[in-house]
Amino acid sequence: MKLRSLITLILLSSTAFAQSKAIDWKAIDAETLRHFTTLIKTDTSNPPGHETLVAKYLQGVLEREGIPTKLVGANPDRLSLIARLKGNGTKKPILIMGHTDVVGVQRERWAQDPFGAARIDGYIWGRGTIDDKDLVVGALMTILQLKRSGVQLDRDVIYVAEAGEEGGSPDGTFGIQYIIKNNWPDIDAEYCLTEGGEFRSVGGKVMFEKIEVTEKVGRGMRLVAHGTAGHGSMPREDNAIVHLSAAVAAIGKWQPPMHFTDVTRTYVEGLAKVSPPEEAARLNALFDSSKTAAAQDYFRKNNIEMNSILRTSVSPNIINGGFRSNVIPSEATATLDIRAIPDEDMDKFKAMMTQVINDPAVTIESNGNFGGAGMAPVSSLQTEMYQALTKAQQKIYPGIAVLPWMATGATDMRGLRLKGMQSYGIGAEIPQEDLITHAMHSDNERIKESGLYAFVHYFYEAVSQVAAK
Ligand SMILES: [Zn+2]
Repeated sequence: MKLRSLITLILLSSTAFAQSKAIDWKAIDAETLRHFTTLIKTDTSNPPGHETLVAKYLQGVLEREGIPTKLVGANPDRLSLIARLKGNGTKKPILIMGHTDVVGVQRERWAQDPFGAARIDGYIWGRGTIDDKDLVVGALMTILQLKRSGVQLDRDVIYVAEAGEEGGSPDGTFGIQYIIKNNWPDIDAEYCLTEGGEFRSVGGKVMFEKIEVTEKVGRGMRLVAHGTAGHGSMPREDNAIVHLSAAVAAIGKWQPPMHFTDVTRTYVEGLAKVSPPEEAARLNALFDSSKTAAAQDYFRKNNIEMNSILRTSVSPNIINGGFRSNVIPSEATATLDIRAIPDEDMDKFKAMMTQVINDPAVTIESNGNFGGAGMAPVSSLQTEMYQALTKAQQKIYPGIAVLPWMATGATDMRGLRLKGMQSYGIGAEIPQEDLITHAMHSDNERIKESGLYAFVHYFYEAVSQVAAK
């Protein structure tokens, strides 16, 4: 090789190296929008799901860039995608994950096409924009960018776009339970990042980040009222429907006792520090025995999420009884959605319910998962990954607080935490003003476009910090 061409080669490769360091975020944002729009326009309402459409699209994108993938699942219409970017194996992998299905829509209640991805006044509208195609695209852009940058990795980065998160897989042929059972070596990792957290903004300013480190546990139960069957023309005092109604009313009005854990205490205390004075006073009042009753009552009426964070919650959601207008039924049932604080003593809780109902004609029965669901460990706030999330956040939104968070609902992190994976729920900016009118699962779900791009930057920052050599 001539000296001149050798110098040219060195110059070229050093330029390429320099370019690999500086990420063109404008270009990344445009690409994010392109993939995100495609994902939103692909209707993966579950049921039926059809998540394979998204899995194949992502497979095309990844394979074109030389990232190996596989599609997994026993239901060809509901496949999940697993991709892996290899590191040198010094440390255990990181799993980054989003779910590709969305909940269904009532189209007539939407102001925009729920599968149109319309961009209006800085927002992108559509089902799945904040649950959970923001995570699907955030994780996609992260793995793509890691590959393109050519940065040396200490660990593999695994990307999973999973089917069937909304409602799980009753027959076990798809979704996270299928993957854990059949493809565990493909996803086994030290850390997982997926949905469950958010950046909360008020009036356009991001105030704090919630990182989900634990979640409530579903402990559903049924109330069963027993009576004597008879002719509807002769009313009976032991009519099962009458007894059930009284029991449901009593349970519905009951406020289970407040119960803090380390995570929820840290969250409430931290939230008080970043809240306006009036709200801060109410949050602090929860810890003050002379003021707590009034504060709890306020949250029950005005902030149902906070109310649920403070206690094991009970919501009667299905009621059944009777089959003919002229027959008194011998049995009536109510299904209770109970979301327990992870360390709640459910035998004691059930005893409290029995006292509240105070009717021997009504029994409380397990709804399948009572006592047997198993408590997933809380993910640690001391890990390299949690620190990296905090650092990345300071780069994107300097000066805001990070609050560990217990979700009131459930995510697919539960199964991963049970397997020992340190799992953190993150998410894009959610404006306070959007909480009710544009929330996840609601009509008119939407995402703030600038928040989506910031989230992709944040995601990449956190993962590259922990994965890169
Ligand atoms: Zn979700």
